[in-house]
Amino acid sequence: MLEGSGKRRDMKDTPPVFSAQRVRVLLPLPLAGAYDYRVPPGLDIQSGEFVTVSLNHRPMIGVVWDAAEAPEAVPVPDHRLKPVNAILPAPRMTVSLRRFIDWVAAYTLSPPGAVLRMAMGSTAALEPPTQQAGWTLAGPGSNRQPRMTPERQRVLAVMEPGRVYAGAPLAEAAGVSLGVLRGMADNGLIRPALLPHASRFNRPDPDHPGPRLLGAQAEAATQLVAKVAARRFGVTLLTGVTGSGKTEVYLDAVAEALRQGRQALVLLPEIALSAQWLERFKARFGVSPALWHSEVTPRTRRDTWRAVAEGEAPVVVGARSALFLPFPDLGLVIVDEEHETAFKQEDGVVYNARDMAVVRARLAGAACVLVSATPSLESLTNAESGRYEALDLPERHGGASLPAVETVDLRRTPPERGRFLSPPLIEAVNATLERGEQAMLFLNRRGYAPLTLCRHCGHRMRCPNCTAWLVEHRARRQLQCHHCGHTEAPPAECPECGTANSLVAVGPGVERVLEEAAALWPEARRLVMASDTLPGPAAAGMAAQQIQDREVDLIIGTQIVAKGWHFPHLTLVGVVDADLGLAGGDLRAAERTVQLLHQVAGRAGRAEAPGRVLLQSFSPEHPVMQALISGDLDAFMSEEAAIRRPGHWPPFGRLAALIVSSEDEREADRTARDLGLAAPGGEGVQVLGPAPAPLALLRGRHRRRLLLKTRREIAVQPILRDWLARVPVPNSVRVQVDVDPVSFL
Ligand code: ADP
Ligand code: ZN
Repeated sequence: MLEGSGKRRDMKDTPPVFSAQRVRVLLPLPLAGAYDYRVPPGLDIQSGEFVTVSLNHRPMIGVVWDAAEAPEAVPVPDHRLKPVNAILPAPRMTVSLRRFIDWVAAYTLSPPGAVLRMAMGSTAALEPPTQQAGWTLAGPGSNRQPRMTPERQRVLAVMEPGRVYAGAPLAEAAGVSLGVLRGMADNGLIRPALLPHASRFNRPDPDHPGPRLLGAQAEAATQLVAKVAARRFGVTLLTGVTGSGKTEVYLDAVAEALRQGRQALVLLPEIALSAQWLERFKARFGVSPALWHSEVTPRTRRDTWRAVAEGEAPVVVGARSALFLPFPDLGLVIVDEEHETAFKQEDGVVYNARDMAVVRARLAGAACVLVSATPSLESLTNAESGRYEALDLPERHGGASLPAVETVDLRRTPPERGRFLSPPLIEAVNATLERGEQAMLFLNRRGYAPLTLCRHCGHRMRCPNCTAWLVEHRARRQLQCHHCGHTEAPPAECPECGTANSLVAVGPGVERVLEEAAALWPEARRLVMASDTLPGPAAAGMAAQQIQDREVDLIIGTQIVAKGWHFPHLTLVGVVDADLGLAGGDLRAAERTVQLLHQVAGRAGRAEAPGRVLLQSFSPEHPVMQALISGDLDAFMSEEAAIRRPGHWPPFGRLAALIVSSEDEREADRTARDLGLAAPGGEGVQVLGPAPAPLALLRGRHRRRLLLKTRREIAVQPILRDWLARVPVPNSVRVQVDVDPVSFL
C-alpha cells in the first residue's frame, strides 16, 4: 500500500487515526449516505483520504468520511464487509471541505454523494502526476566517438549542460527530426531524462505595483486587507457605483491573502465574459490566475485541481463550481456581481453559489467579500442587520460622472410601424455617432423575433417539447426553442391553415434591431454581442478589444453587455424595451430589472465624456423607471423591502419550491395532488399550489409546482424532509427540490 507522503498529510487538520476496523466511505453517487468498508490490517487510513473500493463489483473512488461509530441499521459483521482496496496518492480532502459538502447536501436536500461528485472535479488528478521524458546531454563518461553530422552539431549547440529538453521543441529549435535525437541517444551523445515537473501556475506577486488607491478606495482597501489579515471568517458587502474601482479594491485583499500565504478564490458569474477582468488581474499581479469553469480542458482541469490541492495555485478565478475545489488553506472568497442569478445552479444539485460561498468561507475561517454596484435585497438586508459589514465607494474613479438617465415614452413618440427605435433614440444615436463616440442598443432577447404568427389564421409557431414559442433566428434560417434547443426550418406555408407566405415575425430580437440599425446607419461599424454570436471566452474578449480600440461604432447586445465591461468611448446606451423584464409574476422582477438596466446604463460614460441613457418604455412612471432616472437605488430597495416584509417574502421569509415532472401528465398531476394533500401547515408555514408551472411542458416533461413558504425563523429543510417522506413518488415522476428559488418558471 502507498504510504502517506509529506504532501498528503497537511498540517492544518490532523484527523484522528481510526482504531476501528471499519471506515465510512462516501462515493460520488446519489446514494443516501456513506457506506461502511473494512480496513485491511496494516492499512493506515485517515479521514479525508481518497480510496478505491468496490461497489457492485465495480471499482470506485470514494472519500473516507468519518469513523463508523454507529453501526448501520442492519448491522453487518466486520468480516462480511468489503475491504478498502487502496489509498490514492492524492492530498487528503480537508475537514472544512468535507463539512462543506455535508452542509450543502443538507441545505439543498441533495444526496451527499452528488455534492461530493462536484468536489471530485477530476478523478485523473487523484493519480500521481506523470512526468514526461525528454533529453539531456550525456556529458563526460561516454567515451565513444560517435559520428558527427551538421544536424547533430546543431542539436548539441542548442543544448546546455544539465538541462532537460522536451523532444519536439528541441528538434524544432535545432531544425532536425525526432529521429536525429533518437540516433544521438543510440550513439551516447544525449540520454533520456525526466522533465522537471513544470508548474503551470505562477505565483502572483502581491507587491507588483498596482494602481494608487485614494480616498474612499484606499479606505475600503485598508479595511478589507485588515479582514484578511485577521484570518477569521467575516462577510463584507462591498458596494459602489459602476466604475468606482471595486475590482481594484478587492484585488488589494487578494494581495493580502497572498502575503498571508493563504489562497484566494474569486467567483465571477460568467467566466466566459471575463477577458477584461483577466487582463486587469495580470496587470495587477504580473501573472494570470488559475481558471476553473466548465469549459477548461480535462488536462487543465486535472492540473488545476491538483495544483489547488497542493497549494500551488494561490488564486483561482472561477464559476460557481470552483467552490468545491480542494483548497488546503483558503483565506479569502470574493463573489463579484453578487446579485447575479447566474450564481444559481438550476439542475443537479440546486444551489446558490453566492450563499454557499459564505458557508465555504465560514468553514474555512476565511474572509468573504460580496461585491456589486446593484446588491441583492438579501445582501443589503444582511448588511442592515449587521450580519455583514458594509463598505461603499460613492464615486466613479477619475471624476467620471454617472450617466444621465431619461425615458422615452413610447405612447407619445412611438417608432414607425414595424420598427422598434423611436425618433428620440434615433436622434441621440445620430448625435453620438457624429461626435465620433460609441453607442449601444440593448435588448435582452436573442434572435430576430420572439414569435412567428400566421397572418391568415393566427396560428403561433410553438415548440413541440415546451410551453414556449419558437424564436426566429433569421441569419441561420431557423426557428429555435430557447428552452430545449429544438430547431426547425421556417415553413413556407402555415402548418395550420396551409396559406403560403402568411407567417410574419412579431416583436424584436437583437437581430431585428441590427437590421433596423443597418438601414438607419449604414456607415456605422456594427457589432452584435449575444451569447450565440460570441460563443466563447476568446470571441467575447476579441469583441471587447475591438470596442476598446474604437473599431466599432454601434454595439447591439443582449444581457451579456451588462457584465462589468469597461468601454471608455461608449457614451450612449439605448434600452429598446425597458419594460421587458417586468412582465410575469416573479417575486424579484422589479429588483432584477433595476439591477440589469442599471448595469447596462453603467457601461456609458466611464471616461471623460459624459454618458447618456435612454429607456424606451410604455410606462415611464413605473417605480423601476423612476429609480433608474433618479439613480437612487437605495430608496428603491427600501421600497422593495417594504413591499416584501409584511407578507414574509424573501429575504424576510423563506421559500422552497417542489417541481414535479413526468412525461406522463396524469402521473405528474397525481403526484402533485398527493403532495398538496400532504402539505405541511401550522403557524408561519404555508404551501401554495400545486399549479401548472409557467413552463408547464419542458423538454417533453409535464411540470407542476408547489411552493413552501415559511417565516424566516423556521428552517424549511426538516419540513421538506418530513413532507417528502410521507408521499410516495412513482419512478416515472421526478420531484426536484429548490430551496431559495430564484426562478419561478
Ligand atoms: P468597478 O469594479 O467598481 O466597476 P473598476 O474597478 O472596474 O470599477 O474600475 C473602473 C476603471 O477605473 C477601471 O478601468 C480601473 O482600472 C480604473 N481605476 C479604478 N480605480 C483606479 C485607481 N485608483 N487608479 C487608476 N485606475 C483606476
Ligand atoms: Zn422546447
